[in-house]
Amino acid sequence: MKTGKNAEPTIIVIFGGTGDLAKRKLIPALFNLFLAGWLPENFAIIGLGRTPLHDDDFRERLHEALGEFSRSGKPDADQWAKFSPSVFYFQSDINNPESFKKLGELMDQHESEWKAKANRLFYLSVAPQFIKTATLNISEAKLASHPKKDRIIIEKPFGHNKQTAIELNQFLTETFHEEQIYRIDHYLGKETVQNILAFRFANALFEPIWNRNYIDSVQITVAEQVGVEERGGYYETSGALRDMIQNHLLQIMCMVAMEPPVSFEAEEIRNRKVDVLRAIRRLRPEEVHQSAVRGQYASGWLQGKHVPGYREEEGVDPHSNTETFAAVKFYLDNWRWQDVPFYLRTGKRMQEKMSSITIQFKPVPHSTFTGTQADNLMPNRLTINIQPQMDIRLRFISKKTGLEMELNPAEMVFNYDTCSTQTPEAYETLLLDAMQGDATLFMRSDQVEEAWDVITSILEAWESRNSLDFPNYPAGSWGPENAEALIARQGHVWALNTHLHDH
Ligand code: NAP
Repeated sequence: MKTGKNAEPTIIVIFGGTGDLAKRKLIPALFNLFLAGWLPENFAIIGLGRTPLHDDDFRERLHEALGEFSRSGKPDADQWAKFSPSVFYFQSDINNPESFKKLGELMDQHESEWKAKANRLFYLSVAPQFIKTATLNISEAKLASHPKKDRIIIEKPFGHNKQTAIELNQFLTETFHEEQIYRIDHYLGKETVQNILAFRFANALFEPIWNRNYIDSVQITVAEQVGVEERGGYYETSGALRDMIQNHLLQIMCMVAMEPPVSFEAEEIRNRKVDVLRAIRRLRPEEVHQSAVRGQYASGWLQGKHVPGYREEEGVDPHSNTETFAAVKFYLDNWRWQDVPFYLRTGKRMQEKMSSITIQFKPVPHSTFTGTQADNLMPNRLTINIQPQMDIRLRFISKKTGLEMELNPAEMVFNYDTCSTQTPEAYETLLLDAMQGDATLFMRSDQVEEAWDVITSILEAWESRNSLDFPNYPAGSWGPENAEALIARQGHVWALNTHLHDH
């Protein structure tokens, strides 16, 4: 939890400094932290890649990228003049251990100039196959030997399945202490996701009804309009279950379902979240087809444009069995949530971009208002919209003004400050936390492994049997019909992003 400004000298090395994530997210996040006064007086950002570049070339690229991707827009000339001298480029091949010694000398130089040992952050924004070599070389060159000050940040995907995640964790913890390893799930840095904890645990109103006695079902949807873009080759090895459910959706589910923590300390919060993952009932292989639905998009229309099907995308096998949509029904085996279904769904090329959580409450036990239209007696519903719409909505029933006793659903809405340029981006929050040594919003090794365990039987079932009906939803729809059937069996329908007029 950020409580004060960061005063300790800091060096951030971005492996993949010339890559897409650095340009779109990491550098804009660091620049915005700088503008808001969160970076220490002595800091250095070192971008690393194989591309031959001078410091000035690298700075020029970043300057352009900021104009395009930073929430604060094109950098102000004065601010840029103060920021850019702290940015450096270091040409290196991750496979070359010699270059890590030189990187160490560069870092030592900064520290001797500052006359202080800096916090060192190594951000591995590179393809997963480089993680082992990069961390091994960092360790052998003794670049991160101070457990309290030196940290490694690792992007998703973390492992390809449970076994590879365990192996990677074992490998990393042979060289680093667990407290030095920061596994990123950028969803956890989003304002609206962090607010779930404030909403639940800083109010007396909701927690008493936050259980199976009052809650009927929970839905979590992360829908994207984009397809696989240029990442078809990567996506072929991943799919919706691995790419979204294993991490982002299960993490959101943890925030909704966790027990109240005793304190806001990293280990306490992470313990409560891992309890949720452990409580999720594992699907037996023969149950997978009843509780999980997969889909793959065909061509279709989105925002007036015709878009190709998944199998026609670059880098994708024309007979691909990879799912671009997944919906799963989970149950939790604990006192709070027994028998409450949690429906998770995610997909690409969906009708709308929308991430939201819907908490559906049970209907009133007795209908006092007989004779009123049953349709109007909708049960209470709480919707937490994460993105792009950012709000919390509580639906309740009220009397329509007039002489008759007529009922109508109404909504109370909490709207975030909708000025999006003022809302910090997830990567700002996460980078600052990593600089300050706060791991609350990062994944501990056991969380990652449990999350893989939760989806293992589904992964195995889907990999062992090709889907016969792919592609089974047109781009621009809400996914395959089976996904409707999955939840209709309990009398539920997927919540759409339609809301009543704002009050
Ligand atoms: P990218 O655009 O393909 O960039 C890859 C980077 O790796 C480049 O800077 C490249 O630099 C560097 N690189 C490749 N081989 C190298 C080597 N042998 N030695 C040193 N550097 C090497 O990838 P990205 O999209 O930024 O993604 C980076 C990581 O973030 C991946 O793990 C990805 O899964 C994850 N991620 C990305 C996004 C996103 O939106 N882009 C979102 C979530 C997670 P040179 O070519 O200069 O060597």
